[in-house]
Amino acid sequence: MSRFRIDVADLLSHAGARRTVRLAEPVEGLANSTAVVVDPVAVDLNLERISEGIVVRGAVTATWQADCSRCLGALSRPVEVHVDELFEPHPVPGETYPIEDHEIDLDQLIRDTVLLELPLAPHCEPPCSTVGLDGAEGDQGSPDPRWAALSELEL
Ligand SMILES: [Zn+2]
Repeated sequence: MSRFRIDVADLLSHAGARRTVRLAEPVEGLANSTAVVVDPVAVDLNLERISEGIVVRGAVTATWQADCSRCLGALSRPVEVHVDELFEPHPVPGETYPIEDHEIDLDQLIRDTVLLELPLAPHCEPPCSTVGLDGAEGDQGSPDPRWAALSELEL
């Protein structure tokens, strides 16, 4: 069970009720093809009861690790994402999140949000050098003999 599952029975019983949720917990398997999120992922959220359900607003912060796509050096960067989402008893797929048994699970919201921030081609800042990776270096010092002949003609 997700550690980001929150009991919201208190909010559901009082119109206009609010609560702050601050957590820092691991989220397993949060990664794309190039970057991996390291533990923990932190949330600092305001939960507010409205007529449709519960609005969740605030910040999700995480740190990803990846290899530079140019030099393969290790990279690590923080991301902070603002969220503003609705949880409701009958969610709209792809738009809102469910309230189930007086609980909301922030896990899917965190995954959706942080995944969008992960880089597809991470690289060093400032940009690292690419010299030596394409193998072209050694060829430039030995001109084709035909070009050498042309140079002589011009002289
Ligand atoms: Zn690099």
